[in-house]
Amino acid sequence: MPVQGLKCKECGERYPLDARYFCEKCFGPLEVDYDLAGLDAAETRRRIQAGPPSIWRYADFLPFERRPRTALAAGITPLVRADRLAEKLGIREVWVKNDAANPTHSFKDRVVTIALAKARELGYDVVACASTGNLANAVAAHAAAAGLESYVFIPADLEEQKILATGVYGTNLVAVRGSYDEVNRLCTQLADDRGWAFVNVNLRPYYAEGSKTLGFEIAEQLGFELPDRVVAPIASGSLFTRIARGFQEWIDVGLLEGRIPAMNGAQPAGCAPVAAAFEAGRDVCRPVRFPETIAKSLAIGDPADGPYAIELARRSGGGIDSVNDEEIREGIRLLAETTGVFTETAGGVTVAVLRKLAERGDIDPGERVVLTITGEGLKTLDAVRGTFEAREVEPTVESFEEAVGSPAAA
Ligand SMILES: *Cc1c(COP(=O)(O)O)cnc(C)c1O
Ligand SMILES: [Zn+2]
Repeated sequence: MPVQGLKCKECGERYPLDARYFCEKCFGPLEVDYDLAGLDAAETRRRIQAGPPSIWRYADFLPFERRPRTALAAGITPLVRADRLAEKLGIREVWVKNDAANPTHSFKDRVVTIALAKARELGYDVVACASTGNLANAVAAHAAAAGLESYVFIPADLEEQKILATGVYGTNLVAVRGSYDEVNRLCTQLADDRGWAFVNVNLRPYYAEGSKTLGFEIAEQLGFELPDRVVAPIASGSLFTRIARGFQEWIDVGLLEGRIPAMNGAQPAGCAPVAAAFEAGRDVCRPVRFPETIAKSLAIGDPADGPYAIELARRSGGGIDSVNDEEIREGIRLLAETTGVFTETAGGVTVAVLRKLAERGDIDPGERVVLTITGEGLKTLDAVRGTFEAREVEPTVESFEEAVGSPAAA
């Protein structure tokens, strides 16, 4: 396997593949390092196509020396062409990558599949996370499938559907009275002395690798071709930057031709530190202390990968935009009405940003655009309450016709 070890993103210092996440020399973030030079493109492609129908088909690009066995592997979600949405927006070609079709209905199954496999390999008995909602779902479920104990930390004001869909797996659910950033700070303190595998703290370098597979899948499902543009949501910025990393690795190996697509990030206006920095031409984000948005899964005020997301948006010719709660609701409805896909608020953010780009004329007529839908609408039902009316009638034809009109009147 091409995996080499961990490497500091800032100073290049190398470390073994264990549970660490910052550089002892410069405190920079660590990431997994690969030597891809030995991979033959044609042979790698054959191995991928002969692999299992899950993210493990991309094992050459994942941080394991031997492919682990997992009970609840993520991946191979639908990529569907959305002509009705494209027409509505005046774009030629839009594809919807529906990552709500994962085991716990969000893209977080990808990162947790990888982080939990590494936790088991390293011998941990307890796994944990700081979550804005979907990560808690995924950690609780994957831990249950693997027979590991789990602790999930969430902000106490999370959507009820997400809390219910997490507690059901028999996890230790800890609702913290505070923002996500406070939950995360608490978990960073606990990670130091508990001896637990916090998937997005001390196992973060592995966690991040899971998001690359979304890029791999998009390219494979397009017939080993790159799209021209990808629109994706940003919370910590990990998913956004890793989708592009996936593309880059495949370009380097020769599995793909061309260059990184224009990468467009999407944030909710009530918590948009990355979009604000991008718009102001700054390289770093000013933390948002009190996020206020219906897109709770994106409410990270102090995003770890913010600067890298800004750099990627600039370098790829994309951008980062924000949309308000009303636009988010409209985004959810627009996607549902044109594609039959019901997404959570984070997906509403992504659709609304695509719409903004189209209306602004930022999308060239011939472009092939991929919209990444990262979570399921049933987990944030309150967002669509009041956006439509139901007719209530008596169980009689008269009553129905009174409400709807009679056929003769047409
Ligand atoms: C976590 C999450 C994201 C973004 O996560 P990053 O921290 O930016 O990697 C996007 N959409 C949904 C639904 C999520 O749960
Ligand atoms: Zn360093």
